[in-house]
Amino acid sequence: MNVKSFLSKGKDIPYEFIEEVKRIVGEKYVSEKERDLISYSVDYWLYGVYKTQFGEIPVIPSAVVSPKNTEEVQKVVRLANKYHVQITPFGGGSGVLGAAIPFNGSIILNTQRMNKFISLDEVSQVAVFESGIIGTNLEKELNYKGYSLGNIPQSIPCSTVGGWVSTRAAGQFSTKYGKIEDMLLGLTAVLPDGEILRIKPVSRKSTGPSLKHIFLGSEGTIGIITEVYLSVHKTPEKVVKNSFAFDSVETALDMVREVVQTDAKPAVVRIFDKDETERYFGVVSKRDTYRQAFGIASKILKGKVSPKVLSILNESKNKISFEGMEKLAGKVAVIFISEGDEDFVFLEDRVIKKKAEEYNGISIGAKPVDIWLSKRFDVHLGPTILRNGGIVDTIEVVSLFTDAPALYNDIIVSMSNVKGAVSVSGHYSHFYPESACLYITFAGFPKDQLKYYEDTWTAAMETTLRHNGSISHHHGIGFLRKPFMQKELGIAGEKLMKDVINAVDKNHIFNPGKLVEGKDEEAVK
Ligand SMILES: Cc1cc2nc3c(=O)[nH]c(=O)nc-3n(C[C@H](O)[C@H](O)[C@H](O)COP(=O)(O)OP(=O)(O)OC[C@H]3O[C@@H](n4cnc5c(N)ncnc54)[C@H](O)[C@@H]3O)c2cc1C
Repeated sequence: MNVKSFLSKGKDIPYEFIEEVKRIVGEKYVSEKERDLISYSVDYWLYGVYKTQFGEIPVIPSAVVSPKNTEEVQKVVRLANKYHVQITPFGGGSGVLGAAIPFNGSIILNTQRMNKFISLDEVSQVAVFESGIIGTNLEKELNYKGYSLGNIPQSIPCSTVGGWVSTRAAGQFSTKYGKIEDMLLGLTAVLPDGEILRIKPVSRKSTGPSLKHIFLGSEGTIGIITEVYLSVHKTPEKVVKNSFAFDSVETALDMVREVVQTDAKPAVVRIFDKDETERYFGVVSKRDTYRQAFGIASKILKGKVSPKVLSILNESKNKISFEGMEKLAGKVAVIFISEGDEDFVFLEDRVIKKKAEEYNGISIGAKPVDIWLSKRFDVHLGPTILRNGGIVDTIEVVSLFTDAPALYNDIIVSMSNVKGAVSVSGHYSHFYPESACLYITFAGFPKDQLKYYEDTWTAAMETTLRHNGSISHHHGIGFLRKPFMQKELGIAGEKLMKDVINAVDKNHIFNPGKLVEGKDEEAVK
């Protein structure tokens, strides 16, 4: 193999184990081919992707095993216990924190052959799927019957429902339909000792702590989820789009907070800060043009960015024009989509317009919403920056509304102050009556990529903790955020999480080295 691994070399697993696994799942579903080992060595953790283009992968797994159902998973897990082989479940590999990267070169358990739509109960509106189904296929199956799950993450074409549960994913329409934990009613999973657990699908029960919630966000450490029971919705009767321009992020946050603190539940609410408003909707005020030109010139003079870098960043801005776009110049754009029953949508539209007026929002109409809808799966900027030697990534955090304005201001400043930073911008896209999720995109062209990457993440995490926020809203922990987990959970909280994981997985078989320190990746010798 001519690639190098930069996290761990991996280790050999017994030949007999592989031979027995082949008998369980079939020879063609156990791959030790170099191209498969490399493909499954990295998820969408952007530093890993960055290194891969220079021939360095995080770690080399020993084999990729693709079982077809719960029973085959059970047999593989029992065998893994017998031979002390570690297993990392792998859904779509779209996770952005390295959660699906196997530390010890253990085997990858690829769930994508478990991809069936099992049933739909139209009375209770409950659908059952195998866990390895890709999001777009899940939605197609439901849409065909007049339903939708309502979970539309940007990664829907490359992520699985098992991955969504394991990372506590949140989709773009989450303010109305909720996050994956609001949709998950029950599941089937194989536990680390090979037992099969079935959690029956009901909306709520009072039978002790919720077992379902142990799996939500467990990142492959507690069990391998093979089936999920999901609450689904009829496709909406009516859709209404609104957008407004506000003077500041703070005013926009106040306006949205007041909307979500009524009974209104818009499916989509997004606040774009001034930089992201410009990037999405292509508008720059005269004052900002001068300010930007001055900023850019001084960055070039100080050698912070090259003209090539600037052309990449400029190319990312939308070249569009529509009636009213000038009203967004130098402003903060907020878009809304209300959908569902016609009568409710009518009322929600009234509430939104009334609140916008109270906060002096300038109405821009449906066009910005249509622009966002047409661009929402476009991620070309990331690969372009990586290809050109830059570093780019996104970070999502959450805080109470009370802390949100100060957190926004400080996080932008602290991340922009890291040497090598070129762009730091943010939007809010998931709201609750109490809280809002802030999503930051940053890009830099530093001399030392790893240092820039680590310093920027540290700045973001520490600023969030300082403002009483939580370090992740929906991407999860993987190993990238693991160093910040003690500060996030407290010493007692981290110990409790570690104790639960270690008690369930006594042999340290499932995805070691993730979530918290202490699920000892070296435990299995
Ligand atoms: C371009 C892009 C856009 C994104 N947009 C969003 C977004 O809008 N919202 C959002 O929430 N996230 C988003 N993400 C992040 C990512 O898509 C989610 O974290 C997603 O839930 C991961 O699903 P996956 O199937 O790819 O899981 P993987 O990356 O394969 O795995 C993630 C973790 O789950 C575990 N796992 C996977 N399947 C199982 C299973 N069946 N049983 C037990 N453990 C399992 C893995 O071991 C790993 O720890 C985005 C990522 C990218 C690259």
